[in-house]
Amino acid sequence: MITAEQKPIDEIREMIVPYKRILALGCGSCVAECAAGGEKETAMLASTLRMAGKMNGEDVDISEKTIDRQCVKEFVIQLDDVIDQYDAILSLGCGAGVQAIADMYPEVPVIPALNTEFIGETKDQGYWVESCIGCGDCMLYFFGGVCPLTRCSKQLLNGPCGGSMDGKCEVNPEVPCAWQLIIDRLTNFGALDRLEMIYPPKDWSKKQGAGPRKIIREDQQGSIS
Ligand code: SF4
Ligand code: SF4
Repeated sequence: MITAEQKPIDEIREMIVPYKRILALGCGSCVAECAAGGEKETAMLASTLRMAGKMNGEDVDISEKTIDRQCVKEFVIQLDDVIDQYDAILSLGCGAGVQAIADMYPEVPVIPALNTEFIGETKDQGYWVESCIGCGDCMLYFFGGVCPLTRCSKQLLNGPCGGSMDGKCEVNPEVPCAWQLIIDRLTNFGALDRLEMIYPPKDWSKKQGAGPRKIIREDQQGSIS
């Protein structure tokens, strides 16, 4: 999932200053899972902004709404009927959600309330960890399900740097050495020979460099207009 954190409240307040009728728009997917932009967080932010507005004698009307996914047009069109009522949308979606709303309603300013962070996993309550940087050419098969691009501090593809101590990374002893994990896992299922080949430098053109990446699946087209 995509993780995010709420921006500092002063930064949000500064961005909404020019607007009087604002819709705080939550997203019920990834950002709800990471407790940054779901229904509950949207209600809390809207209430904080209302209270701050009142205390400062500002004439501002903040409504709130949460849709299932801000990054999917099918869900965003739910705003068609209400969008005219607002001067601005304060989006608690990730960067993709903010841009999807902005694309759909070019006349309406869309303000990001969150800082989008990374693709990661929920490890425990209130604990999220990055696990993929979206390289566009997944190598997890070769590395036993542990991504060295994300989890090795030096992004090494051909074995450890040699600085690992007690299974911890030399750069950050709070995290496990990704290469120790890779070797342990491949050993566990008898696939250590996958490390016998030399992995060439990563082809980063699959990640970035030519504008936004796209996935086009003709077999899936037609269901969303
Ligand atoms: S190899 Fe690439 S796609 Fe696979 S987990 Fe790592 S960054 Fe993500
Ligand atoms: S100690 Fe392990 S995780 Fe840290 S940089 Fe070296 S190989 Fe990578």
